[in-house]
Amino acid sequence: EHVAKLVASRIVDVPDFPQPGVVFKDISPLLADPAGFRAVVDAIVTEQRATGFEVVAGIEARGFVLAAAVAYAAEVGVVAVRKAGKLPRATFAASYSLEYGEATLEVHRDAFLPGQRVLVVDDVLATGGTARATLDLVEQAGGAVSGLTVLLELGFLAGRAKVDGYPVHALLTV
Ligand code: 5GP
Repeated sequence: EHVAKLVASRIVDVPDFPQPGVVFKDISPLLADPAGFRAVVDAIVTEQRATGFEVVAGIEARGFVLAAAVAYAAEVGVVAVRKAGKLPRATFAASYSLEYGEATLEVHRDAFLPGQRVLVVDDVLATGGTARATLDLVEQAGGAVSGLTVLLELGFLAGRAKVDGYPVHALLTV
């Protein structure tokens, strides 16, 4: 598919980042490319339109870039799912384990209307911990997950298993 090829061609592998042995997929060249950025945003909107999403939730920080553009294009609002301690008002929090230690994400308690259909957007689905915590947060805050969409899924890390039961879409899976 055209978009998958475009994504593949604009991602740069960075060996040993953020730690030795990890190959980080840098999506910044894709976002910086006008045709690439527009194509991925349009592809997400087209692919997700039928789900009837009413708001887009972006995961800090690269998810924000995509979520905002998708929301604008779809003429809906955008909600930030942030790392612990960044949001100013009352939040729900969800913690998940990383290879070393723990991470916590938060969303404002009143971020969603009851039953509002929420499209969750991030750049990369790796082990799935981040996505899973976000889906839990959306539901805790009263939203209904209409889908999870990412630019890139790292299939060998089996993140999809952690978000089993939810509609997950990746523009490219490697
Ligand atoms: P997970 O929780 O699925 O292991 O990790 C996914 C989160 O970490 C996403 O928010 C994503 O931005 C970030 N992440 C993990 N690995 C990569 C990677 O190789 N490239 C990029 N761009 N982000 C990554």
